[in-house]
Amino acid sequence: MAEAKMKNEENNNDETMNFETDVSRLLDIVTNALYSNRDVFLRELISNSADACDRLRYQALQDDKLTKGSAPFHIRLLTTIKNPNLTIVDNGIGMNREELISNLGTIARSGTAAILENLKNQGQEKDMNLIGQFGVGFYASFMIAHKVEVVSQKAGEPETWYWESDGKTGFTIREANDDEKAWLTDAHGTAIRLHVNSDSTDYLLEDEIKRIVLEYSDHVEVPIYFNKPEEGKEDEQAPINAASALWTRPKSEITQEQYNEFYHHTGQLFDDPIMTTHWTAEGVIEYTALLFIPTMRPWDLYDPDRKTALRLYVKRVFITDKLDTLLHPWLRFVKGIVDSQDLPLNISREMLQSNPVVHKIRNGVTKKILSEIQKLSEKDEEAFDTLWGQFGAVLKEGLYDAIEHRPDLFKICRFNSTNKDAPMTSLDEYIERMKDGQDTIYYITGENAESLSRSPQIEGLISRGIEVLLMTDTVDEFWLQQVKDYKEKKFKSVTQGNINLDEFSDDKDSDAKNDNEETASDDDKEMDALTLMLQTQLAEQVNRVRVSKRLTESPVCLVADDGGVDMHMEKVLKLQQKYEPSNKPVLEINPTHPLIKKMANMVSKDAEQETLKDTALLLMDQALIIQGDSVTDPAAFAKRMASFIEKGLGS
Ligand code: ADP
Ligand code: MG
Repeated sequence: MAEAKMKNEENNNDETMNFETDVSRLLDIVTNALYSNRDVFLRELISNSADACDRLRYQALQDDKLTKGSAPFHIRLLTTIKNPNLTIVDNGIGMNREELISNLGTIARSGTAAILENLKNQGQEKDMNLIGQFGVGFYASFMIAHKVEVVSQKAGEPETWYWESDGKTGFTIREANDDEKAWLTDAHGTAIRLHVNSDSTDYLLEDEIKRIVLEYSDHVEVPIYFNKPEEGKEDEQAPINAASALWTRPKSEITQEQYNEFYHHTGQLFDDPIMTTHWTAEGVIEYTALLFIPTMRPWDLYDPDRKTALRLYVKRVFITDKLDTLLHPWLRFVKGIVDSQDLPLNISREMLQSNPVVHKIRNGVTKKILSEIQKLSEKDEEAFDTLWGQFGAVLKEGLYDAIEHRPDLFKICRFNSTNKDAPMTSLDEYIERMKDGQDTIYYITGENAESLSRSPQIEGLISRGIEVLLMTDTVDEFWLQQVKDYKEKKFKSVTQGNINLDEFSDDKDSDAKNDNEETASDDDKEMDALTLMLQTQLAEQVNRVRVSKRLTESPVCLVADDGGVDMHMEKVLKLQQKYEPSNKPVLEINPTHPLIKKMANMVSKDAEQETLKDTALLLMDQALIIQGDSVTDPAAFAKRMASFIEKGLGS
């Protein structure tokens, strides 16, 4: 403060003082830079006025003389075209001389001081957008004005003060004359007159002012009026803002129609939300949130450049809709607002990004959304199914993105399943239906649940009554790489590695075994010979060949080697061109299949037969086709196929 009085010229009543060094630097930046977003000056001044009204409202609770005979709280925006200026008048608490000097002559606010600090650290004052975007409080006036006059009277005090500055070196302060006193609309309050630069006269246009108010200050609770009402029509003038923050009203007083209207208005959306959540968090951090989940999926849901669009307010003043740390990316379809009590109003985006309060809010918001979705799944299955259908795949990104929310996410995740009674199932339901001794959650990944359910790889599991989850979202491949188990049950891909099914008896299977005890070893030998023959024949295409219990209907299938990349994952990676497959798959053969049996028998007689070789190649191609891959050599495949068909038809 001492610095503010560096130069002190006494001239009648006038006192001219220099700004604090930091203020001068800031003003220098503000006045000399070009801003991408100068609109914020009005937001800043309106927010100060609204604050001033809030503060007086609060003080009047203790001392009602302060507002005795006053008009209701209001903010007026008055324009004069001739000597172009814009005046913002409020009947808030006002400032006395000392307050004018210290509030408008020093940088008291931590937010602005921090911006300066940040600029200093950068070594140059170049990132002007920072200031343009987040404002510098009162000083933002100088973005559009070359002279600012302030007339203010503190509630409960008799004097009215006049403050004036060109935003360069300092300011002048004195008692206001009668003309100036008339700027005020009450016995207390502040009028700020901006002498608008010639390149900024658009800010005097009614439409322009209304647009900015609507964008930034619509939910400021104090009514904002544009210009004076006509004589005798004072009661009819309508505020240009909504003058009420919907989210500050009690839930019980808000209808779903009102919520929907708000959703349409702020989100510029045309559908109705499928879920509306409105709550106030109290305690360590305080905020109110009003959030919506749309019914329709936004077209750019998967666009990597898409930004999350929660609107952040601080004490009902709009701050930004670009703060992507306010919401996890996997909740990017959630719309609405968060209004914080704890954040400072002026804070740069960089600082907001890493602000611990923002992180706490994000955590609270995430928990709440997940628990509300879970409740929805219990009370409105249809709505939940729609929600899951639209956004389930995005939510699953959270399984690898946010470990701390994984348990809550798993409660709402649904998967296609081979269980006919529960084609969409939760993991908990899956676990409930597990067979005795089953400690594994089996899954298969691919594009389409219907065709996955017919995969040869799961035949053996199904015939043993073991349920398999059919994972059809690309994201499944990614979270399954990270998440190894759920409630101590391991996830296991049925297209990767061996599966031990010995513990689970298949009725047909065990009967057959008992009947053929003696011949079993002969069969085994033949099967070994076939395995060896296939391995030699197909050495280029497969890593190895083995007899498998997982097949019941199909003769063969391909699986990834243990430790290798899962079959479908390999495809996904190939598509994204991030990966050249290096592991060859394993070919599993079904020893109970008539074709395999016959081949085994033929091998035991003459392993070198040409037909056998062709059959081996055809089997391999068949395995590829079943899982939706293309055959290695289509022409050769067609030729072999034709010759087999010909034989089959008989000559
Ligand atoms: P902030 O609002 O973040 O404190 P500003 O630069 O916007 O920073 O304003 C500085 C201070 O000036 C405010 O804290 C307030 O004390 C005072 N002030 C500004 N405008 C008004 C007003 N219209 N009525 C009363 N006090 C005001
Ligand atoms: Mg302010």
